[in-house]
Amino acid sequence: MSLKVLKFGGSSVGSAEALRRATTIVRSELPQGGLVVVSALKGTTDQIIEACSAAGRGDLAWAQTVLAALQARHLEVAGDLGHREGLQAAWDPLFARLDQLLTGMAMLGEATPRARDAALAVGETLSAHLAALCFEGTFQDVREVMKTDARFGKARPRLEAIREAAGVWREALSPGVLWVTQGFLGSTPEGVTTTLGRGGSDTSATLLGEALDAQEVQIWTDVDGVLTADPSLVRAARPIPQMSLGEAEALSAFGARVLHADSLAPGGRAGFRLVVANTLRPDASRTEILPVPPARSAGEVTSVAYKEGISLVRFPASAGLEPPLEAARSLEEAGALRFGLISSPAGTLLAVRPETHAATEVLGTLAASGLACESGWAVIALVGEGLRADPVAALRHLAALGDEPIGGLLTGSSTVSIAFLVPESRLGNLIPRLHSRCVDGL
Ligand code: ASP
Ligand code: MG
Repeated sequence: MSLKVLKFGGSSVGSAEALRRATTIVRSELPQGGLVVVSALKGTTDQIIEACSAAGRGDLAWAQTVLAALQARHLEVAGDLGHREGLQAAWDPLFARLDQLLTGMAMLGEATPRARDAALAVGETLSAHLAALCFEGTFQDVREVMKTDARFGKARPRLEAIREAAGVWREALSPGVLWVTQGFLGSTPEGVTTTLGRGGSDTSATLLGEALDAQEVQIWTDVDGVLTADPSLVRAARPIPQMSLGEAEALSAFGARVLHADSLAPGGRAGFRLVVANTLRPDASRTEILPVPPARSAGEVTSVAYKEGISLVRFPASAGLEPPLEAARSLEEAGALRFGLISSPAGTLLAVRPETHAATEVLGTLAASGLACESGWAVIALVGEGLRADPVAALRHLAALGDEPIGGLLTGSSTVSIAFLVPESRLGNLIPRLHSRCVDGL
């Protein structure tokens, strides 16, 4: 049978009103049943992390204040939907468990990643039970199938084990069956709860789509699909009706926030259609991400992406390759994202986005050792299948910008994108100009 998997993020299930909208979508998209993945109610994951941190530093009072707020909000939403009583049997033990976990953390004076994952599971499970009632489906615990390693907080999926465990689900999900499950949770071979990392529910949905041989996975979010540019900088930004997986990968690598980068790989392996749609406007245009690239004319650019907050570190040619590689490694270990490492006989340039306090400190150490470090840069990427046939088109677009201080060209192994560095302060000017030139045509 042809199975569809739908995923709703926190904001799409964040209130009674949002859940009513999601229910309408589930009814129209899954008249024959299927699988729905839901994240915790909007803000819940942040609240649980806050409660764990408080408990870990011994402040149980604050942890319990946060828990009480979380509980009150959930009960209010459930009450609004008329499901308060129906949820009591499932929810009461979950609230009690979270309370116990926080008490344990406070007693030990530490919130280990393993304990935190156990606490985060409560948020996802509360929401999946609520959504199951709203959608008139059955709750199933995703930990039965989402087998991972034991890297708590950012567990890696074990694909073969997932496929094997999903056998029962594949059989059970026959026409007429509607199941609702949690986002971003997994379990170790010993059955201990893990999480896939923040924002990991898109990845849960696509991994499940792969393991269940789904035809289509739909990610329901709060934008009209994947856009041609950031609408806060480009008023003419519009949804891209169809794009290739390669374009989607390049876009998320260079800053588009719509899809989690890890969520794309399963579609590449399994070949299902991945759809991004807007919960607030279900009938607005959506984006289909296809394993086989849609037709594009040579040189055509589909989207302009950017990421600000980039720092550059320059290594003299005399340093050789070892120090920049070493620096890149320690920055990444500290949580930085690497956007470029370009080496030529004239020296090596490393472009990173620090992301964490620890990475900023590593950058500070590099600067103190005498290396040239500059913050305040941004990376802009032109992305499009059309660049495969005519890569020089991207250079023509760049040349047309005229006298701009371009800090370096980043051409990676992706043939569907070209990226370059510009001072952050130029983004507001360059992104709209590039969009109207490359995406809208001259
Ligand atoms: N609820 C989790 C988070 O907020 C997972 C997700 O939303 O994808 O990170
Ligand atoms: Mg979320």
